Amino acid sequence: MSLNLSADRPTAPDDADDGVWLECIDCGATFAPFDDVRYTCDDCESLLEVRYDDLPTFEDFEGRGVWRYADALPLEAGVSVREGATPLYEAPRLEDDLGLEALRIKHEGMNPTGSFKDRGMTVGVAVARELGVDRLACASTGNTSAALAAYGSRGGMETLVLLPAGKVAAGKIAQASLHGARILEVDGNFDACLDIVQELAGRGEAYLLNSLNPFRLEGQKTIGLEILEGFLADYGAVPDRIVLPVGNAGNTAALYKAFRELVQAGALEESEVPKLTGVQADGAAPMVEAIENGADETRRWDDVETRATAIRIGNPVNAPKALPGIRETGGTAVAVSDDAITEAQRALAGEGIGVEPASAASVAGLRKLRNEGIVGGDERVACLTTGHLLKDPDAAAAAGNDPEPVPADTASVLEHLES
Ligand SMILES: *Cc1c(COP(=O)(O)O)cnc(C)c1O
Ligand SMILES: [Zn+2]
Repeated sequence: MSLNLSADRPTAPDDADDGVWLECIDCGATFAPFDDVRYTCDDCESLLEVRYDDLPTFEDFEGRGVWRYADALPLEAGVSVREGATPLYEAPRLEDDLGLEALRIKHEGMNPTGSFKDRGMTVGVAVARELGVDRLACASTGNTSAALAAYGSRGGMETLVLLPAGKVAAGKIAQASLHGARILEVDGNFDACLDIVQELAGRGEAYLLNSLNPFRLEGQKTIGLEILEGFLADYGAVPDRIVLPVGNAGNTAALYKAFRELVQAGALEESEVPKLTGVQADGAAPMVEAIENGADETRRWDDVETRATAIRIGNPVNAPKALPGIRETGGTAVAVSDDAITEAQRALAGEGIGVEPASAASVAGLRKLRNEGIVGGDERVACLTTGHLLKDPDAAAAAGNDPEPVPADTASVLEHLES
């Protein structure tokens, strides 16, 4: 078993359910998908992937949003608040400034709770319902908790979220709170929160909906499918490169899986597959380190720090799925400073696109790689912006203009404007 682009189309084992099963990415063991709660391989504890007997091509997709791609998902329908179908914005000034053939911004902040996490939750919470569990849990830098709280309440389930105390942006806590999650503020970082949730899940206390859960990544594949369809419609070809922020590397793994399945279905040539290009913050860059060192796994960074709190992660759980994705597609990984992230956040805002700091990392990384000549001027590029500006109002206010106090009369206002 290997996660390479040219791997053969899988064949269904006896324990498949309607042509869907779980398979270990290391030892190849297979498991029925909905009989038992399972996050990792029983035999070797490696990551699991959802597999399909029958893989769809573009012609099989119909409707709008995540469930347009039901043929590529483990269930026919989800617990839904109308996620997906996000805009693929043009950004002409930024495109010009970066000197690219084409630049499009896939703004995942336009999902119901304001981040791409909704795409994973619509599938993951539906699987939880299929499994008959009643309590859902996640560790989160914020957005996963907002999505879990919303989708869990939509599905009528109890939700529990573990957050690193003092390190989660205000908008995200507000969402988890109003959607009714029990919020535990842990005196530790995200990675410590995830360790605890994994132990709770292992003891059967809750169903885990972090991106270690293979079903969440299935929903997130639809980001890649939408980007490819958008580029095919507008340029007659898929993008040369997709640049995205990397935290736990779930999206990197999910996009790579979407591409592999399209290649296996005969819907995409191996040579056309976009180069997956991951961006991390200087203070939390274990994936960049692994790519630079040619390592098969990441080293856990115990002290991580960045203004981009959504990617303040030192131990990316999906690295074993994402590292082959970056390498096999001819992509790369790059780290950027917090100041470069803020500058990119302003540049996007100048195109009317409001994103939170982690999202702007994609554009900051693209600029760095373009300056270094690693990204060519002839490339058509999609940048993924993962979360909405309002998620982190404090970061936005700090990066933007300051309000100017004025007296309450027009003459004074005019005088102020002229000064
Ligand atoms: C979760 C999140 C990320 C990180 O995504 P991964 O799939 O874990 O790499 C990046 N940006 C935002 C805004 C997020 O919420
Ligand atoms: Zn295994």
